[in-house]
Amino acid sequence: MTSSHLPQQLALLSVSGLLPCPFCGMAKLARVTRLPPEGEPEPVCIQCETCGATGPTATTHDHLSALWDIRANTGRPA
Ligand SMILES: [Zn+2]
Repeated sequence: MTSSHLPQQLALLSVSGLLPCPFCGMAKLARVTRLPPEGEPEPVCIQCETCGATGPTATTHDHLSALWDIRANTGRPA
């Protein structure tokens, strides 16, 4: 048996200081991090805890936050 077949776990950590969700307008946001069975946690995206919308993916938390703010400013739903 190896651990390679275990499901990957996700961790949600509340974040503040980001622009509100462009979809529902709420600022209750979480940083989603994938926790592989082995190795380093990997940033996944920013997720709105109110409506579940997710932001762009990136490989660093700083980049995730930057991308979220860019979309919150310019990526409003049609
Ligand atoms: Zn939302």
